[in-house]
Amino acid sequence: MPNRTAVHSELYSPDSNDNPPLNGGKCRACGYVFFPPQRYGCESCGAPPEKLDAVQLAGRGTLHSYATVHLHMGKDIETPFTIGLIVLDDGPAISATLTSRTDEGLAIGDRMQSVLVAAGTDQAGGEMVELRFAKAGAGK
Ligand SMILES: [Zn+2]
Repeated sequence: MPNRTAVHSELYSPDSNDNPPLNGGKCRACGYVFFPPQRYGCESCGAPPEKLDAVQLAGRGTLHSYATVHLHMGKDIETPFTIGLIVLDDGPAISATLTSRTDEGLAIGDRMQSVLVAAGTDQAGGEMVELRFAKAGAGK
């Protein structure tokens, strides 16, 4: 792999295009799994931060809900785009931008998987990649 940088390097590694795992956390005291990673302590049982382990979560889950955004003030993303709430197979839910711009062909309960897409270049000219979710098995 050439030098690539993740736009949100705390959440995923830039090294695999297809189905990259996500960086989450797990509580050693109660087994609660969460995403994104945090260091404040367990949200479920209140265990202190030292009881939390970093774990990798499979970038696979089920589409729970979705919404297409047609008006957006930021310049970082072109409209329309669609945000999905995906319940990961490992437990936590993640709100993510989907590869499909609109909700055409999407349905609640669809199987989804993580992908990385090109997101321009950084100041040093290195390739940037950003996390998206796509329908699993949609092919390319
Ligand atoms: Zn806990």
